[in-house]
Amino acid sequence: ARDVTLRHEAELRLMESTRALEDALRRQKELNETQRKFVAMVSHEFRTPLAIIDGAAQLVLRHGARMGPGTVRDHQETIRAAVARARHLIETTLAAASLDAGAIRFTPGPVDLHRMLEELVAQRASLSKDHRIALRIEDGLPVIQGDQRLLHQVFNNLLSNAAKYSPAGGGIEVTARPDRNGAVVEVSDHGVGIPEDEQGKVFERFFRASTSAGIPGTGLGLNVAKELVAMHGGDIALASGGGTTTFQVRLPLAAPRR
Ligand code: ADP
Repeated sequence: ARDVTLRHEAELRLMESTRALEDALRRQKELNETQRKFVAMVSHEFRTPLAIIDGAAQLVLRHGARMGPGTVRDHQETIRAAVARARHLIETTLAAASLDAGAIRFTPGPVDLHRMLEELVAQRASLSKDHRIALRIEDGLPVIQGDQRLLHQVFNNLLSNAAKYSPAGGGIEVTARPDRNGAVVEVSDHGVGIPEDEQGKVFERFFRASTSAGIPGTGLGLNVAKELVAMHGGDIALASGGGTTTFQVRLPLAAPRR
């Protein structure tokens, strides 16, 4: 009887280690897949703005002397826009890498969402006149405890997506209101939208909806935003349909102690 028990134990242990090995192999495979997607994204997305900058700079260098001032300015603006795109790419990629490394510093302090959203909306309006952005702040919006820099990144990302995925001339609405135990911020646009069967995946790393084909992007921003909001003890949700796409961020008055 003792032999049988021993054999039984040995079998159990063998099964356990097989399962652990299978788990490790699966995780390794997932990691390889993530790395493959990452390299594909970086090589595609980073090359485009660099090629644009290179092309415009060469044109001005070679033919600048014979160009009218308007044409030179057009090329300079092309360069500036491509630099902004490259910078956004680098920042999003670095943020994702820092999250992976557990190297994001959360520095809590009072966050005046009203002021932050006002600044973000003004900034975006000065960058481009393509969209009309309406900001509505409801009475009683509380000052919350959070990390100013990280929340700025979250809302900047949502606003930049709203502009990127909707046509010039389209309206964007940003609203903030008090909630039972915190604040709710919503960013809505009337652009390409996200098909219902893809909505569950938009917060996954590298996922890009079928409606975003031809529009540059990394598929990293919303994943980063979700993690940053989670660090605040909040959550982010999406509703898209009937021509309107809304991202909703709920933030508690203060992040739970970690
Ligand atoms: P990306 O750099 O591709 O914009 P994000 O992580 O910010 O990456 O978004 C992931 C995907 O979600 C996008 O590729 C796009 O398909 C979809 N998406 C995000 N915001 C919007 C929006 N406002 N309207 C339509 N689709 C959106």
